[in-house]
Amino acid sequence: MKLLVVEDERRLANSIADLLRTHGFEVDVAYDGPTGYDYAASGVYDLMILDVMLPGENGFDVARRLRSERNGTPILMLTARSETADRIAGLDAGADYYLTKPFDTGELLACVRALLRRQGEQVEVLSFGDTALDLSTCTLSCGADSVRLSNREFDIMRILMGAQHRNVPKESILTKVWGYDSNADENHVEVYVSFLRKKLSSIGSHVRIVAIRRQGYHLEAEEV
Ligand code: CA
Repeated sequence: MKLLVVEDERRLANSIADLLRTHGFEVDVAYDGPTGYDYAASGVYDLMILDVMLPGENGFDVARRLRSERNGTPILMLTARSETADRIAGLDAGADYYLTKPFDTGELLACVRALLRRQGEQVEVLSFGDTALDLSTCTLSCGADSVRLSNREFDIMRILMGAQHRNVPKESILTKVWGYDSNADENHVEVYVSFLRKKLSSIGSHVRIVAIRRQGYHLEAEEV
């Protein structure tokens, strides 16, 4: 699988490339819009990760130009901004998925795999302990039991599974799931975490969502 990363913040671009390489992908990097466009136009990539704010030509324009030339390379768009308007602009321009910076590396990998799977290349499931989250059906399963998650529950579970044992601040869940401009507060996160706990126990999962005061949540797998 050959991926293209177009991102002008060199450290970020290189760390994304390194991460993807350690997961077995072949990766090329471009640091500005026009170069990114030229690489992508070659049509050799299975997916491109495209930043929005780029020198030369922004990510929206690069995506739009590729799509107008019938280049169907899946595009995962990155941006530091999270306003709904930008999200819509990105999707209108032809992006397949939109990830807001800062993102978790697990989240990035999950998105990459989900987009590649959509191409019929790979099956994507995140797992932790005895429990798996199917990204295409939003289903949480443990052994033979499974339960469907609502959109919010799914988003939260995906973030927690992406982070694995690492702690995720409540505030970061709030921002990623509800966005900066929403009226939701940390109580919403708590409510959805309690829904998730019920669903985990309903399928006999030994995964627990552990809350640490003032720090957030992380997953733990109980010894069976
Ligand atoms: Ca940038």
